[in-house]
Amino acid sequence: MKKISVIVPAYNEEESLPLLIERMNKIMEQMKEYEFELLFVNDGSKDKTIQIIKEMREKDNRISYVDFSRNFGKEIAMIAGLDYATGDCVIFIDADLQDPPELIPELVKYWEQGYDDVYAKRRSRKGEAWLKKFTSKMYYKVLQHLTQVEIQKDTGDFRLLDRRCVNALKKLRESQRNTKSMFSWIGYNKKEVLYDRDARIAGKTKWNYIKLVDLAIDGITSFTTSPLRLSTFIAIPTFMLLFGYFAYVIAKCFVVHKAIQAFQAIILLILFFSGVQILLFGIIGEYLGRIFNETKNRPLYLVNEYNGKKEMNEK
Ligand code: UDP
Ligand code: MG
Repeated sequence: MKKISVIVPAYNEEESLPLLIERMNKIMEQMKEYEFELLFVNDGSKDKTIQIIKEMREKDNRISYVDFSRNFGKEIAMIAGLDYATGDCVIFIDADLQDPPELIPELVKYWEQGYDDVYAKRRSRKGEAWLKKFTSKMYYKVLQHLTQVEIQKDTGDFRLLDRRCVNALKKLRESQRNTKSMFSWIGYNKKEVLYDRDARIAGKTKWNYIKLVDLAIDGITSFTTSPLRLSTFIAIPTFMLLFGYFAYVIAKCFVVHKAIQAFQAIILLILFFSGVQILLFGIIGEYLGRIFNETKNRPLYLVNEYNGKKEMNEK
């Protein structure tokens, strides 16, 4: 019997958990041909979340949990979930029921067809302000321009991952995690499933705009080092301006026989030195980017098949 691990990161979710369990029970009832594990990662909740999880585990041994020493954030909760999951595949799901568990049979169906990463794509988002939707859309656009890796739009963390994706993700152990970028980075056979994202069932969102900007910057800087290249790009027009102005002043000097004036010399000096400085920054940035990529210590590649056998990334 194949085993499915459902990973639920939970931070102050005492109100949502009973409702989540209720709906998950129905799904597990429907899918009797699979063994289930419901793995909660309690991310340092300050309410009764952990007590509720412990009570639930007493009644149902399919429930297990990892309890963090403090709040580490959802990204870290997710990697802990991957580390502790024992299933042949895992499914990430939010505790607040914004990701409908009713989609799980469909995700599993595609997994059985041989897909490794079945991700749920939002057709609509309920209960979210238009500004959040708009910024999220623009963000994906910018990110896609900055990187070579293909990014899935309108996709959260709600997805099914085959064991070999899990093993691959476990190898990416950088501390500043941006899991979304990692899902793209690992590759493998991806399949998209559309769904309507519901509004949060109870409690409040843990996100605010400061956290979102944080996440956005993390996303860009973990995906690519192109912001570091910015100074190189600024240096080029600066030097063009310098040469243009220099040519103009010199030409005037010789053609009209007018001596170089003090303000012209100052402009030339400013352009020259700021150009040199920006260029040097750019060079430092290029090296810094390389160091950054090396220190991430990622595996250089991931293999899909070897001699017709699926590579499981166990080593
Ligand atoms: N979460 C977590 N640690 C945190 C913040 C959130 O484990 O520090 C969990 C939270 O319990 C929920 C999921 O991550 O299961 C998504 O959080 P939330 O609903 O607040 O985010 P949103 O859906 O608004 O993006
Ligand atoms: Mg939510």
